Amino acid sequence: MHKSPSRRTRPTSSMTVVPPGTPSAMGWAHRDGGLVAAGSGTQCVHAGTLPDPAYGSVTPPIYQTSTFAYMDVLTSAGFEYTRTSNPTRACLEDGIALLEGGCAAVCTSSGMSAALVVLNLLEAGSHVLCPIDCYGGTFRTLEHARRTCGLEVTYLEMADLEAVRAALRPNTRMIWAETPSNPLLRLLDLKALSGIAKSIDALLVVDNSFLSPVFQRPFAWGADLVMHSTSKYLNGHSDVIGGAVVAAREREDLAQRLATLNKTLGTSQSPHDCFLVLRGLKTLHLRMKAHEANAIALAKFLAGHPAVAVVNYPGLSSHPQHTLARRQQLGFGGMLSFELKNSSSVAVSRFLRALRWFTMGESLGGVESLVAQPATMSHASMTPEIRAHAGIRDGLIRLSVGLEDQADLIEDLQQALEQE
Ligand SMILES: *Cc1c(COP(=O)(O)O)cnc(C)c1O
Repeated sequence: MHKSPSRRTRPTSSMTVVPPGTPSAMGWAHRDGGLVAAGSGTQCVHAGTLPDPAYGSVTPPIYQTSTFAYMDVLTSAGFEYTRTSNPTRACLEDGIALLEGGCAAVCTSSGMSAALVVLNLLEAGSHVLCPIDCYGGTFRTLEHARRTCGLEVTYLEMADLEAVRAALRPNTRMIWAETPSNPLLRLLDLKALSGIAKSIDALLVVDNSFLSPVFQRPFAWGADLVMHSTSKYLNGHSDVIGGAVVAAREREDLAQRLATLNKTLGTSQSPHDCFLVLRGLKTLHLRMKAHEANAIALAKFLAGHPAVAVVNYPGLSSHPQHTLARRQQLGFGGMLSFELKNSSSVAVSRFLRALRWFTMGESLGGVESLVAQPATMSHASMTPEIRAHAGIRDGLIRLSVGLEDQADLIEDLQQALEQE
């Protein structure tokens, strides 16, 4: 027999208010605590998705509301206003925190707003170290903060640990790391960087968008914060812009400040988009393995092709940091880049136009393969000098390897390379 929904959604003040996320159905009570120790597949499937306490819905409902009715004077059901917190977003935040092994997460409207939240942890006049080949949007955001907020920023070759130590200042408060880097797939040694950060009481922040927690767990190497553009692999279907910041298990203090900042800056993610990212998480482990299998095959094919000068993929034994990749990562990921021997704009255009399954576009991490020319797209806002210094040449092509059949992707690259 159905109970009247109206009676269940309007508890009286004498009713016990069940906090969202409380196990409410058979079997679930046994799952909650076990998830931390479960395998990554089990974690991905179940992350953040305890049944909704209202009706036991197995998928989290989209709480598409701006505000929540108080139960009584000074008594809410745990949520008051969606900019501050929302049950659907809370599910995603719990899920991402679980997958990264952190204590809590905040979900934001984009990867860049996640970066904004992180940078707002700093006081004016702080100094930040950032890799010279960081994501173009991160570079833009840091430059903006440098001009308008008095942030001091040093961009450097962060794989060079001596250069990192030499760049430290008394006011260095944050080391921003991105590994593997975009678009050159260079790695940073997170354990070494965390040692340096700890020695001066600075925060180590790791942008983990390229590998996702399935393939890289920065907290295991001593990171304080992990950030994501969930627009990429976590969502994985190229239909959401989103971000997340996760605080390390022992950094509850940072988690509190992140939540306050997300509320204060108004950067929090919409319930519907949170629902979509949560849906993406459920297949993250399967997608990452399939992206990787395809990327390995393409990297090997490209490395053996006469029209290709160099392939950047940490999974190749020829990659200068292959050993570090094996030690630090749980997988090599689905991103690679390579340089065409003939890097004239005519040749590059001919190659790009000939591709059938690789759509030319920004972004990465979706089920469909994408191709980009970083010099004219993602990194166009860098000056040619900085680009040259960072090693981003015109013939550099970046692939986000999708989940199409391997044979189709290889055949496609082959015919496009033969247009040369
Ligand atoms: C895409 C991306 C970002 C920015 O995220 P948005 O969701 O586009 O705002 C930041 N870092 C990396 C590594 C990215 O790939």
